[in-house]
Amino acid sequence: MRDYNEFAQSELDKLIPIQDKFKAEFNIDSFVNWFYDSDFHILRLYNDENDEIFFKYIPIGTFSFSSETWMWSWFNNYLSESNKSETLKIKDFGEENSFKKLYEGTFPSDKFDGWEFLAISYKILGGIGVYNVITDNLNFYLLLTEQITNNNNPEIKMLKQKKMDCGNHGFKRPAYVCQHLNLQTAVGFEEAFETYEGMELDDEDDFQAWCNECEKVRIKYDGWNEESEKFAQIKLVCEDCYFEMKKINNP
Ligand SMILES: [Zn+2]
Ligand SMILES: [Zn+2]
Repeated sequence: MRDYNEFAQSELDKLIPIQDKFKAEFNIDSFVNWFYDSDFHILRLYNDENDEIFFKYIPIGTFSFSSETWMWSWFNNYLSESNKSETLKIKDFGEENSFKKLYEGTFPSDKFDGWEFLAISYKILGGIGVYNVITDNLNFYLLLTEQITNNNNPEIKMLKQKKMDCGNHGFKRPAYVCQHLNLQTAVGFEEAFETYEGMELDDEDDFQAWCNECEKVRIKYDGWNEESEKFAQIKLVCEDCYFEMKKINNP
């Protein structure tokens, strides 16, 4: 039987020069800001609009500073990345080799474990480098699989439109609805144009919807004007809230 510590150390030793080369090639340390989008699993490193770089990632796992525990992504219900199931391959590998740390979903740990897990993930899943996002209470360990270079890439375009931080859904694209639309009751759902979830929008377009009562007022005033807008009291919500409201009205 292979010894886990020996195995983990040898994978870490292999990753270090690869990671050094990766950091040098993309000048990783020159970027002071990071942002990651879980819908597209894209990491953006940037200084400003003109100085930025994008990578696709697989979320490997998190280390919580408060509970001092590691949690694999496949075990973590809070992570919404669709590709987190890739980490099940690491779990399988752990079971085959009786490496407990690789197949238990969560356990007491330290932040050094995370780097070994990244190295093992790199071996099993492949990639171009790794990244460690540090927030107030978590280390989030990412395996980077490819750089996205095309700035006309639709996912990057959408990611850049995600400018509002909804308390419930995180960073999303803004949407505008009348004061009457809500997440409990159906009040009608008139849209400025037909929409579907995740659709691309031009920069000058926004999701916009209003209720049946607002539609009556809008027709009465022959469109949006000071009076109909006063009745509607348009408010800002996020796109996910918008589509939840739409669902309530079109069950
Ligand atoms: Zn309304
Ligand atoms: Zn929202």
